[in-house]
Amino acid sequence: MGPVLRTEHLVSADQQTGEIASKIDAALTQLARARQIQRQCLATRHGLSPLQLDILMTVAAGEPPEPSISLLARELGVSQPTVTAAVITLERKGLVRREPLPPRRTLVRLEPSGQPALADRPFVDAASRLDPALQEAMLEGALVMIAHLVDNGTLSVARTCLTCRFHRSDGGHYCVLLDLPLARSDLRVDCPEHQPAA
Ligand code: SF4
Repeated sequence: MGPVLRTEHLVSADQQTGEIASKIDAALTQLARARQIQRQCLATRHGLSPLQLDILMTVAAGEPPEPSISLLARELGVSQPTVTAAVITLERKGLVRREPLPPRRTLVRLEPSGQPALADRPFVDAASRLDPALQEAMLEGALVMIAHLVDNGTLSVARTCLTCRFHRSDGGHYCVLLDLPLARSDLRVDCPEHQPAA
């Protein structure tokens, strides 16, 4: 007589998928917590607030977005007066300078002394230790999740391939603007040519 399967031990495919999704959620929570702690330590070490550090990192990463006060505020999800106050403090510390752009915009430029605060990158170090195939799978998976979060209104700013009107998917990935197939490793997270999909 073969093994007896007890129904209470059977896990449906839906249940299993739900459990994996919950584990991914828990893992992302741990990563987010670790990033928050790391940023707080980095900010404290350099005498910065977390927002001041975020402004430095966003400006250092380059465009997009244009480093204007209004676009930085939108990118970081805070008000323009809050960003202005943080930038004035960073300017007093000699880490950035404000550059007026007529008629009414102000750009934020990184000073050379602002760079050392950005050298610590433990998450890049950890990711670079993964097998290349796993790195590609994680990149694609993260971009699919970001696209879902944009669809359901959780995220308002994303300049990724999978949220772009120029992206086509037919088994693989294709950019009609660049007229190029995109390998998973080519997928962009912050593309200057990105235009939101309808
Ligand atoms: S324009 Fe940029 S973001 Fe859009 S599909 Fe092409 S490479 Fe990706």
